This record gives sequence, C-alpha cells and structure tokens, in this order.
Amino acid sequence: MSKRLIIIGAGISGLTSGVYCRRSGIDTTIFERAGNPGGVSTSWKRKGYTFEGGIHWLIGSIPSNPLNDIWTETGALNADTHIFYKDPVYSLMENGRPVLDIFRDSGELRKAFIKAAPEDRFRIHLLCFHLWCFKSFHPPILDLPGLKVKGKHPFRIMEFVRMLPAVLLTPFLMMISAGAYCRRFRNRELRELMTSVIHPSQNALSLIYTLANFCYGDSGYPSGGSRIMAQKMADTFTRLGGNIFYGKTVERIAYENGKVRGVYVDGSLVEADAVIISQDARKAIDKLFDEPLQDKWARTMRKTLETEQCIFIALGVKARLGAYPDSMVFSLEKPFEAGGARFPIIRINNYSFEKDYAPEGGTVLTCLLSNPTWEFWKQAKDNGCYAQSKKELLERFITLVETLIPETRNAVEVTDIATPLTYERYCDTHHGSWMTMWRPWSFTSVAPIRYKRIKGLYFTGQRTSFSGGLPVAATSGRNTAQAVCKDLKQVFISK
Ligand SMILES: Cc1cc2nc3c(=O)[nH]c(=O)nc-3n(C[C@H](O)[C@H](O)[C@H](O)COP(=O)(O)OP(=O)(O)OC[C@H]3O[C@@H](n4cnc5c(N)ncnc54)[C@H](O)[C@@H]3O)c2cc1C
Repeated sequence: MSKRLIIIGAGISGLTSGVYCRRSGIDTTIFERAGNPGGVSTSWKRKGYTFEGGIHWLIGSIPSNPLNDIWTETGALNADTHIFYKDPVYSLMENGRPVLDIFRDSGELRKAFIKAAPEDRFRIHLLCFHLWCFKSFHPPILDLPGLKVKGKHPFRIMEFVRMLPAVLLTPFLMMISAGAYCRRFRNRELRELMTSVIHPSQNALSLIYTLANFCYGDSGYPSGGSRIMAQKMADTFTRLGGNIFYGKTVERIAYENGKVRGVYVDGSLVEADAVIISQDARKAIDKLFDEPLQDKWARTMRKTLETEQCIFIALGVKARLGAYPDSMVFSLEKPFEAGGARFPIIRINNYSFEKDYAPEGGTVLTCLLSNPTWEFWKQAKDNGCYAQSKKELLERFITLVETLIPETRNAVEVTDIATPLTYERYCDTHHGSWMTMWRPWSFTSVAPIRYKRIKGLYFTGQRTSFSGGLPVAATSGRNTAQAVCKDLKQVFISK
C-alpha cells in the first residue's frame, strides 16, 4: 500500500516537497488555505493590470546554477519559459535621468562605478573582488546519506572548490551589515545606489551574494511572474497524481504516542503516515499543536526571530514609460514616511518590459517599502483607521511618483496596496513576513527538517534557514522530501 503524506501549504517550499514526494511514489495531498498556489510568492490582476508581488529576481534562472535543476525538475521553469534579464539591474535617478547604474557584467559595473566615483577606486576594486569570490557560490544541493536516489544530484568536487573563496570571505561579510558595507563608499551616489539593493540591516553576505548573482548573469525574471511559476509547479504536482485542496486550512496536527496520525481540516481527521509543515514555522509552533511547542529551538525562535516585512504598492498607469529604466532608485530630499517608518531611498519597478502586464498604452509601477511595520498597521486596525491610513499613504505615494515621473501625472488608473497585515491574512506568516532578517552575527534558531518528538512530522520553508527567499524554499523543499522518502523507505526520484 502506498504511504500517505499531507503537506500543509502550497507555497514554493510545499510545492517543491510535493512534486518530489509524489514522483517518488508517495500518495501526497496538499491543503492550502488560500485559493491558489504560491504563498507569498504571488502576482495578481486588477482591471487589466498585472501586479507582481513576489519574484523580483530568481536565483537559479541560469542552467549553470545547480538550483536550476530544482526549478526544472519541479516544473517551475521549462523550455518555454522566457527569462528576462534586466540590464542595468538598478539605476539611480536624478532629475528624471539615470546617473549611475548597476550593470549585469561585473567588468562594466567596475568601469561605471570608477568613472562615477574615482575617489572610491580601491573600495570598488575590493567590491568587485568580493563579487568574484561569490561568482560560483550557491546553496549546496546534496543527497541525504543512506537514501536511495534515482537521478542523483551529481557531486562535483570542483563545484565546491569554486565556492572556497566565498566560504573564506563569509565570516568577514557576516560581521558587518549591508548598510555599513555601503556607507564605506565616499561617493554619495554610489552609496545610495548600493544601499537600495537589499535591506541595509541584513548582513553584507546577503548583499554580496545578491549582487554577485546579478553581475555574473543569474537572477532573471521568469516572464509571467510568480503566479504562473507557482501554477506550473502545482500543475506538475497534479499531473503526477497529487491532490491539492485550496481554501482548506489545516487546524491542527493529529498525533498520538509520539507518532503523527494526520491533520484536522474542517474539524475532521485526515489520516497520513507523514505530515510536512510548510506554513511559516514561527506561526506553526504556536498554532498547530495541542500546546505551543516548548523545544529549545522553538523558544529561541520566539525570542530572537527578526523578520523581513514590507508594504507593497502597485500602480496601473495610463502612460508609456518604456524610456525609463526597469528599476529606478530615487534618493529623496525628504524621506517618505509609511507605516511609521522613514524611507530616504525608494526603488520603483517599471514593468514596461512585460507587454501583457498592462492594457495598450499603460504601464505597471510597483514599490516595496521594506521595514517592520506590522505593529503600526495592527494598531491602525485596532483603532479602526486601517483603511483610512492605507488610503492616505496611497495618495501621498501617487503625489510622490507624479513628481518623480512626470508622465504619471493624472494618469494613475488602478492602485493596490498590501501591508504586512495583508500577507498575514492570506498566508498566515508571522507578522506578514516573507523571510528572516539575517543581521550581522545574529543567529536565530531554525526549525528542524525532522521534528524529533513526533515521528513522521517534518518542517520545510523559510524558517528552516537563517535567511530566506526562493532558494531556501526550493532547497528546503527538496531536503525535506528526501527525509520523508528515507523514513518511508521510498526511492527518491528526482526527475
Ligand atoms: C514582495 C515580495 C518580494 C519577494 N521577492 C523575492 C525575490 O525577488 N527573490 C526571492 O528569492 N524571494 C523573494 N521573496 C521571498 C519569497 O517569495 C519567499 O521567501 C518564499 O516564497 C517563501 O516560501 P515558503 O514556501 O517558505 O512560504 P509561504 O509562501 O509562506 O508558503 C506557505 C503556504 O502555506 C499556506 N498556509 C499557511 N498556513 C496554513 C494552514 N494552516 N493550512 C493550509 N495552508 C496554510 C500559506 O497560505 C502559504 O501558501 C519575496 C517575497 C515578497 C513578499
């Protein structure tokens, strides 16, 4: 009789586990509380405009990055997927024009930076050296010892040798924040452009890893965006014979005598031999068990976890903006205030390159204001002024965009705004977050792939690592699937 597995959540990690487990012959069912797959990696339509609220860059979009194997094996990417590579990746704007760019080619980037900031020549060379060190760095994709695997991931010693420079540099980059790394540049424009790449509180390792992926040709945008990519993964899963039930929230895990029995959905027990939790583990430890978990890692996570949160704003504009760069960085005279936080630098994404994202003659503009603002919005909700606060923020944002990009004046047709409360409502993530904030030398605890106290219970997803994003969702999804296969004595079939 085939073994039964239940996965809680059809986000990217849950779908990754689902595809591998189903392909390996396990009877797999996914329960997803939302109406569609993808979790926080999502995009949606409003009155003819498509708003991308998830993928901005996909690490592993090039075949030479081993992560690409996971994206192709799970159906996220296939031969028909067109990948768009922004170049320049980011452009610092002044008076409506780009004045400094981050180019995809590291040589071009070096030239452009030295030209704009000769006073930082030495630091620019050092930056380029750091990027070179991370050129071949990627999360290792390994097969679990003792597991029978059909289609083993090749273990190439050179792959690890090429990662050595990055490994040696890692302790140094983990010691400082991305913001501090950027502040070392004397040139104001260079500082501002660099600061816009990731949240300045993350460690510099995350900054260099992100930039290196851009500058060495990876991190494209799969055409059609997050919704299409997640749907392709879900289709792969169902084609293999897996079941997904949308609009179904798992209320609780069922377990007895240290062994999992299944989950409760709509008050009824659905039995299974194994259960994977892909819901944000920070929420799951408090909600999915008879009593909140009190393991040491769970207590540490409660105390120390810091999260990446954002306010997402999207505008559908009746204007052609193809002459503007794809990602515009603006350093503002007066910081923009949103959700109780101040944003001296904002980045506006211009989706002119996606012709189908807007009706003829229109363009989508989006902006992520990343900062922990959950408390602010929660208070606004409790005080009954949530809708009004969002409306007021949107109006101020439109006014700001109209001054920065004059073509948008009186041309905004459709708007949308998501706060951390929105993400929390749809995906039930802790404070509406979508990954862990990895500060310098800070290590929160992570959820274990196998939960030792309950046999047959596993975690996957963003909280199984210090940092996050789609690479963690993919690798943890695969690792968890391998642990399940090993415990259920199934051969792991990768493709
Ligand atoms: C605006 C934004 C931009 C981003 N940009 C990038 C980017 O450019 N590159 C990148 O690499 N990463 C990016 N990320 C991060 C990345 O999308 C996430 O880290 C990743 O998708 C997390 O996947 P996950 O499967 O771990 O979690 P989730 O997406 O949270 O998946 C968990 C799923 O479980 C479901 N669920 C929760 N509770 C239950 C329950 N009780 N019962 C049933 N279902 C449940 C949820 O609805 C959800 O679908 C971005 C995120 C956001 C929000």
